[in-house]
Amino acid sequence: MSTDRRTRAWIEVQSASLRRNFRRLREAVPEGVRLVPMVKADGYGLGMLDVVRSLAREAPWGWGVATVDEGVSLRSAGITEPVIVFSPLPPGSEAAAVAHDLTVTVSQVETLDRLRECAGERPVRVHLEVDTGMGRAGFAYDSVRDWGPSIRSRLVPPLKWEGMFTHFHSADEAGGPGVDEQMARFRAVAGHLNPPSAVLLHVANSAGLLRLGRGLRGFSLARPGIFLYGGRCGSDLPPPEPVVAVRARVVRVAEVPAGATVGYGSTYRAEAPQRWATLSIGYGDGYRRAASNGAEVLVAGRRAPVVGRISMDMTVANITGVPGVIPGDVATLLGSDGEEEILLEEVAAWMGTIPYEVLTGLTPRLPRIWTE
Ligand SMILES: *Cc1c(COP(=O)(O)O)cnc(C)c1O
Repeated sequence: MSTDRRTRAWIEVQSASLRRNFRRLREAVPEGVRLVPMVKADGYGLGMLDVVRSLAREAPWGWGVATVDEGVSLRSAGITEPVIVFSPLPPGSEAAAVAHDLTVTVSQVETLDRLRECAGERPVRVHLEVDTGMGRAGFAYDSVRDWGPSIRSRLVPPLKWEGMFTHFHSADEAGGPGVDEQMARFRAVAGHLNPPSAVLLHVANSAGLLRLGRGLRGFSLARPGIFLYGGRCGSDLPPPEPVVAVRARVVRVAEVPAGATVGYGSTYRAEAPQRWATLSIGYGDGYRRAASNGAEVLVAGRRAPVVGRISMDMTVANITGVPGVIPGDVATLLGSDGEEEILLEEVAAWMGTIPYEVLTGLTPRLPRIWTE
């Protein structure tokens, strides 16, 4: 373990696995489709700049972020590839986006006017978003006759119409309602607008990419996120290689008598004598309280249940029957230890959420330790 003894809990990130997941996605799409890894929300919690440094070796087309500030961080770190800001710009943030040469996504006519005002002579790359059912951003697919002409007339220098895209709402669901319908709507809008052939079209997130695969012929880009980071994106879709492990040290081992209670609210009571291990991780690290009395952890390569409520800094596991555990040993809350493995999807289920929220919820208190 490359941590020092005083590191009480940490995240391990396997850089080689991240890149292998990237290559698997690249092999799934037709030639000509370039990948834009989504590195928003601090690289899904793993550390945006470290993710970029690792994936840069695979030479992606560019990077996807959600906010202008995230884009500025990439530029400040010396990243020169295109950086696309995918959330609609808050009015007033256009100048910063232009100043840092960020590619902007546009959902409103007014954004184009404000971009023109602050652009001066600088070229500004624009991707139009089409709302085909996600309902949170983009121009409505069914009113292209209304917005199409005014948008086209505004997409002249210094604004450069570089791309057009939509976002799937249910690509993770097998046979779900979304993908075919949204594709048809997007194609209809593209047919109506008839963009120059250089305009880059893109639709696929991780799930869309795996579901459509060769069916993405004709598209220029795809925007995977969660699969890269080890999150499965549909029960009928192939799983990625795990990328992330979360570990914490055992800091106390106690033999407790029948009737002993643990945690706030004393929600768990030992029915017989038991052995408990206190792990130095809690919801202040993103190991969420919702997983109290439900999650499992690995100690000495064996599964042990979390007992009582998870608190801010500590969590207790029932290690009755796991011999030889002493303070300083390492417990695994996510990832593998010996033959056993706790999957991201399991942790998400215990927390009542999805893998995305588990990863992005891991707090800065946990050091991110990258290994090849
Ligand atoms: C976050 C995001 C993605 C990536 O989605 P995953 O499900 O993580 O693959 C793709 N496109 C847009 C517009 C996004 O905001």
